[in-house]
Amino acid sequence: MLQDRTTAVRQGEIDGLGIDPHRPLLVVDVDEVLGLFMAGFGSFLEGRGLEFRVERFALFQNIYRPGEAQHLEIAEGKRHFDDFFRYGAGDIEPSPGAAKALRALAARASVVILSNAPAQARLSRARWLGRHGLDYPLVLSSGPKGPLTAAMAARTAGPTAFVDDLLSNLDSVAESAPAAARFQHVADARLRPFAPSAPERHTRIDDWAELHDAITAAIAA
Ligand SMILES: [Mg+2]
Repeated sequence: MLQDRTTAVRQGEIDGLGIDPHRPLLVVDVDEVLGLFMAGFGSFLEGRGLEFRVERFALFQNIYRPGEAQHLEIAEGKRHFDDFFRYGAGDIEPSPGAAKALRALAARASVVILSNAPAQARLSRARWLGRHGLDYPLVLSSGPKGPLTAAMAARTAGPTAFVDDLLSNLDSVAESAPAAARFQHVADARLRPFAPSAPERHTRIDDWAELHDAITAAIAA
């Protein structure tokens, strides 16, 4: 219910995205899809004398003080996470092949970047996208991505494709926008073995060139 109301409030923002009512729509995530978030967050933490150990598909449970076996308090990890979005998220590396793939896909589809990031990230995130040739309309959000994706998909008669690293978002889109083609992409090679997947529900493709071909086929349908 809250989700529905939030989405209703954002209809004006969706109006401004320039979604072509006759073309396919591609909705794509940033962290671990277009950008190597974990690697950047790890470097940021190192600068603060901490360690990020890629031991599970999680954020806060992977932050340690050097030499310690117990991860940092979750609340403390969240503070570093918020700081990273404020000061450091502009420094992450783009995922290999992502910009080239989106450039090709944008020739036949409207592209919208849908990122769950805090409001303080908007400026640095938009600048980051521009700097790396990923200058497409940006929507910042929080929570499951299904309702917003459904609201955007409703703006076109064409097919919709959705890309994210998180099962929770893919499942949410399956529920709210079941006709959308769903792809899971995990950009960081170190994270891939830990990332939960459900290939029977969402196609998992970790390589952007391959993902480009699969999205092209999906939106041509
Ligand atoms: Mg992500």
